[in-house]
Amino acid sequence: MSPQELQESLISQNIFLSTKQMQQLQQYFQLLVQTNKVMNLTNITEQSAVYVKHFYDSITPLFYDRQLLHSVCLADIGTGAGFPGLVLKIVNPQLQLTLVDSLNKRLNFLQQVVDQLQLSSVQLVHARAEQFGQMSQYRQQFDYVTARAVASLPVLLELCLPAVKLGGYFIAFKGSQATAEVAASQVALEKLGGQIEHVEKLMLPQQAGERQLLFIKKIKETPAKFPRKPGTPTRQPL
Ligand code: SAM
Repeated sequence: MSPQELQESLISQNIFLSTKQMQQLQQYFQLLVQTNKVMNLTNITEQSAVYVKHFYDSITPLFYDRQLLHSVCLADIGTGAGFPGLVLKIVNPQLQLTLVDSLNKRLNFLQQVVDQLQLSSVQLVHARAEQFGQMSQYRQQFDYVTARAVASLPVLLELCLPAVKLGGYFIAFKGSQATAEVAASQVALEKLGGQIEHVEKLMLPQQAGERQLLFIKKIKETPAKFPRKPGTPTRQPL
């Protein structure tokens, strides 16, 4: 997908990117590819693949939830090279964004992108999600939490739901295995206070695969014991 094809496909979803926003995406692409030569950030480096598998994919929640185009507070957990969080910020400059990752070198890259693109209201947090969800300044503070390619759903729910406000949403980016993951997550949903409100299935353009977006609403407060200490959610999923 070329930059122009991305822009056109977003217009068909009533999402309009300015010249400045298109330039920011291009700068982001260049920084990603340059930095990837010295630091492992992504396996996807060809321009058209980055535009569809990283950029377009990251934007897809906006097709289903227009609230995300307003001034909401969003944390992207296990953001890596900034997906989906930083792309959502470029598309919606009003977003109050927090990027969380346990690998500091990835955060150094993200800081460089934030500086060069002159993005404001972006906070970078070097922490494990298990610690982040227990910090009072972050716990139950976010309208939205997102995560892509971080863990299986039962684990991910424990890493992400504690940071979501009551009435807010965790958006999990999943693939064709989502149905099985949801079936394995009933106990976790019940214990953590989440409810799957809707699931949106789409095919990414140019045969880039199936995406399923799970919109999980926080309907009850998460008990204080969750998330458990680092590593426990993965070793002993709920
Ligand atoms: N979300 C990005 C994407 O879709 O391209 C990155 C995916 S990468 C496969 C997984 C990222 O999650 C890595 O950057 C890793 O450091 C981070 N991660 C994994 N477990 C984590 C945890 N418990 N807390 C914080 N970050 C975590």
